[in-house]
Amino acid sequence: MKKTISVVLYIMVSGLALPVIAQNDNQTCRISLYVLGNAQDAGKPQIGQHQDPAWQDPSRAQPATALALYDKGKARTYLFDATPDIKAQLYALDQHTGKTGFALDGIFLTHAHIGHYLGLAQLGREAMGANAIPVYAMPKMRTFLRENGPWNLLVRLKNIVLIPLVDQQAVDLDGGIVVTPLLAPHRAEYTETVGFSIATKHKSAFYLPDIDRWDDWGAMGTTLEAMIAAHDLLFLDATFYSGNELPGRDMSKIPHPTITTTMARLEHLSAAQKNKVHFIHLNHSNPAHNHHSKAYKAIKTAGFNVAQTGDTHCLN
Ligand SMILES: [Zn+2]
Ligand SMILES: [Zn+2]
Repeated sequence: MKKTISVVLYIMVSGLALPVIAQNDNQTCRISLYVLGNAQDAGKPQIGQHQDPAWQDPSRAQPATALALYDKGKARTYLFDATPDIKAQLYALDQHTGKTGFALDGIFLTHAHIGHYLGLAQLGREAMGANAIPVYAMPKMRTFLRENGPWNLLVRLKNIVLIPLVDQQAVDLDGGIVVTPLLAPHRAEYTETVGFSIATKHKSAFYLPDIDRWDDWGAMGTTLEAMIAAHDLLFLDATFYSGNELPGRDMSKIPHPTITTTMARLEHLSAAQKNKVHFIHLNHSNPAHNHHSKAYKAIKTAGFNVAQTGDTHCLN
């Protein structure tokens, strides 16, 4: 894993600040992951949260969580999740890759909560009028998109083409990249939820922005510890830092493992194992958005990381 260190320029698009990293910093890396956002579905600042300083200081704003996979050798780009911030994220991706114009080679969807698929709407006739972009989706997700507007129009007009995913079945993207979905327990109002293992011959990453409880994964035959052991880099659900973050809201209705819970669970791991973990999908209320917070410092001191928009990770 090689993190690009470079001058970060902030661009303003639709009120969002996305760091754009100069493309030349990535010369030696053929296949990389690029973090397009680290906020929970609703982004930061969130609707109605007008006390959030990010309204006045766009450098404190964060797009919703998504990753891009960039195969420089084959000039291909893939998205993991299509967020409501997709416009600015694709602009940032083009700036990062040096591509001109929009040329996505596929979108992998984790599930049908708003931060993870609403961006598909921008591919339709009212916006991009995209041509047959492959959208990789699990069975319930495909049915949801095929049977509900406005998504079914994207399918009918062939703006998108649905590509079936099967739990734990690898998809070979050619160019030596394999993507494998893995079911995870998460509120399933509409669809199942998956995480994605993204592997080259040399390195592997795992992306799981949403899960209810780590212990529930055991019933599905998976443990967090096994996933950490099996990958070089993990982007893991870190929606809340602790359990008292949302006064007036019943947090049991929106279960997520808190960062403090996850860190306690993984306390026994070696420093190298802990360093693989990059927390992502931070709610607007999560103090770890702020690098000067006690929460952020506690995470770093414990040996873990917080994924930052604009981070790049080499997979070869
Ligand atoms: Zn989410
Ligand atoms: Zn969700």
